[in-house]
Amino acid sequence: GDTVGILGGGQLGRMLAMAAAQLGLRSHVYCPDPDSPAFQVASHATCADYDDQRALALFADQVAVATYEFENIPAEAIAYLSTRSHLAPSEMALMTANDRLVEKEFLNAIGVATAPYRAAETRRELAEAADAVGYPCIAKTRRFGYDGKGQARLDGPGDLDAVWNQLGPAQLIVEGVVAFDKEISVVTARTADGRSATFPVSENSHENHILARSVAPARIPDAAARTAADHAQRIAAALDYVGALAVEYFLTADGGVLANEIAPRVHNSFHWTIEGAVTSQFAQHIRAIAGWPLGATDLLGAVEMQNLLGDAALDWLGVLADPTAHLHLYGKGTPRPGRKMGHVTWVRPHTAP
Ligand code: ATP
Ligand code: MG
Ligand code: MG
Repeated sequence: GDTVGILGGGQLGRMLAMAAAQLGLRSHVYCPDPDSPAFQVASHATCADYDDQRALALFADQVAVATYEFENIPAEAIAYLSTRSHLAPSEMALMTANDRLVEKEFLNAIGVATAPYRAAETRRELAEAADAVGYPCIAKTRRFGYDGKGQARLDGPGDLDAVWNQLGPAQLIVEGVVAFDKEISVVTARTADGRSATFPVSENSHENHILARSVAPARIPDAAARTAADHAQRIAAALDYVGALAVEYFLTADGGVLANEIAPRVHNSFHWTIEGAVTSQFAQHIRAIAGWPLGATDLLGAVEMQNLLGDAALDWLGVLADPTAHLHLYGKGTPRPGRKMGHVTWVRPHTAP
């Protein structure tokens, strides 16, 4: 068994497969879309729907460990694989992370602060939740949202109808708008026997709710960085987590650290670890799920990563005009506005004192 199974064929799966190959492991990517970026680099491929039990069973038999690269894999497929194969992170970790209400209740139960929130399933409950949380607030679908999809802001009761028409009927969560100073994130990796390693905090900026740029180390007070790392480790321990885990946070002006959401996987805001850290988040995830020793997480310099969104990727020659730029293109076909086509990393090495 030297094959790592990866559910999902996006750029995260692609970079996981590349990391597995570097470590002498084979990858088996399972994804319904034949054009998936991960298929281009995988050792083995299954192109089948997630509800294809025959295909899932074959996949499970062929991999030593199965993992996933996005949290919206249908629950039935995950439940099935967790009985048929060694799944990491666990089904429980995924089910905690892929429902915003379950996620927030879990975080608060273990002492990780979040924005105030309320659940809502009807137009009337939406109004009650917004009242309880206070305006301005943001309504989000509990499941399947990403890149800000399935979200709408409410500045006052006058927005209730439009927001319900846009998002409902659906299971929603209403969150208070956090007046944040900065958005930051942490990736920590944990093994089955409880070893862990945490990367330095990344500082993120979004455009149209899509991650545009990350820099590390984050330019934030030491105390905030410690809290963010501690909370990520607490989350991983509470989930008995195996693999790389990402946590997004809001940093408030008074030094408060509020968890926004967790992702049971590698994360876009840590792509710079490929060139900018001793160990990449992708290699770290593979090492963690394989039960291998974890790598050092130190930075190799001051790093910056920029996503190539939509048409920006067409100017890859322009990117390469800077000889210090590390260019990554994901092999996706057509650039649509906001689509993550690639990224660029710069590492400014630490200079000797
Ligand atoms: P991702 O692509 O990171 O999975 P997502 O669709 O799951 O995104 P969130 O991370 O919940 O969505 O929100 C996207 C962005 O919207 C956040 O990074 C932040 O900039 C803004 N945002 C979300 N919730 C809040 C909030 N409660 N207060 C202030 N800003 C928020
Ligand atoms: Mg999300
Ligand atoms: Mg997010």
